[in-house]
Amino acid sequence: MSKFEFLSEELGALRDQGLFNTIRTIGSPQGAWFVVDGQKVLNLCSNNYLGFADHPELKEAAKKAIDEYGVGPGAVRSIAGTQSIHLELEKKLAEFKHAPACIVLQSGFSANTAVIPTITGRGDVIFSDELNHASIIDGCRLSRADVVRYAHNDVADLRNKIIEHKDSARRMLVITDGVFSMDGDIAPLPDIVEVADEFGVIVMVDDAHGEGVLGDSGRGIVNHFKLEGKVEIEVGTLSKAFGVMGGFVTGPKVLIDYLRQRARPFLFSSGLTAADTAAAIAAVDVLLESDEPVKKLWDNAAYFQKGLKEAGFDTGVTQTPITPVMLGDAKLASDFSKKLFQKGIFAQSISYPTVPRGKARIRCMLSAAHSREDLDFALEKFAETARELGVLS
Ligand SMILES: *Cc1c(COP(=O)(O)O)cnc(C)c1O
Repeated sequence: MSKFEFLSEELGALRDQGLFNTIRTIGSPQGAWFVVDGQKVLNLCSNNYLGFADHPELKEAAKKAIDEYGVGPGAVRSIAGTQSIHLELEKKLAEFKHAPACIVLQSGFSANTAVIPTITGRGDVIFSDELNHASIIDGCRLSRADVVRYAHNDVADLRNKIIEHKDSARRMLVITDGVFSMDGDIAPLPDIVEVADEFGVIVMVDDAHGEGVLGDSGRGIVNHFKLEGKVEIEVGTLSKAFGVMGGFVTGPKVLIDYLRQRARPFLFSSGLTAADTAAAIAAVDVLLESDEPVKKLWDNAAYFQKGLKEAGFDTGVTQTPITPVMLGDAKLASDFSKKLFQKGIFAQSISYPTVPRGKARIRCMLSAAHSREDLDFALEKFAETARELGVLS
């Protein structure tokens, strides 16, 4: 008998429950349209909010960086030395975010697992929104701190939980996603900061879906709420609106200095490639030159969400370009997504356990890369599919 029989059984169980995920294969760059499993389809599922993943200036910067620095970093930054463009990117991101200092990591995931366990440990309490991203959850687990989940976006619940734990905690940290990726709602950051300040709790926000989307020129949620200087720690990703790859932490210089000495993903895993780093620098430059892509993204989102609502669809509680089309039943959502694909649209269905049971949906991700004709095409196909499946009657 195979030593991995237990995994075959697990995979079988996933298939039986309809939870087995068949990953589609992309055969072109990310854009408004792309080639998926050999078929050209409208892209409503990537986080390429600004269309930067295939942007000529970013690609040019990456090519130049390869000529100048080669393809690989050689070793971790703390041993083989940091490349000068890493420092340039960190400086640029700190300025863009109006933050004192920045450290760049390999991904948003590793940024969370770099900062959380490095600054918290046994005896500390982390308050974490119940819908926070998996990388925050893993960062919390690695810290060995007590993790107290509070009800989603519920600041009264957060306050009660802080009061319950404040006398026994050594240090306290509250962490929230800035924009929640399944519903597109925004964390009530001003209220979180107010409660945190009342009790001396450090505030950390993971702005993965807010960067390039919220705030002035896409500076993110902290800028959006005019809370610069009041949110101690921001985590970001370069893989969504920025269109590249990588993660970062911005915050006080003393925090960033400490992460350079002690954060394990920084010390024990090589840094970003020169190509990724240069492309990320170019992404910030393009954003600083013009906020046109950010405006276009929001225009597209408003147009598409209005069209869906007029057709009778329920787009949930979104406040951002993340557009859930609520269908309820998991099988219905999955059938809806398959039909859309046959009609030339790639939009993923999302169901339990990623979202609660009975809240299955198609999640549409809007982009500045979409044209009005693209969105009209999508609206037409959504309505057509709904008729065929007897949704909206
Ligand atoms: C996508 C995401 C991440 C992970 O970012 P990567 O750069 O892809 O590793 C982290 N946190 C949140 C909230 C995210 O949405």
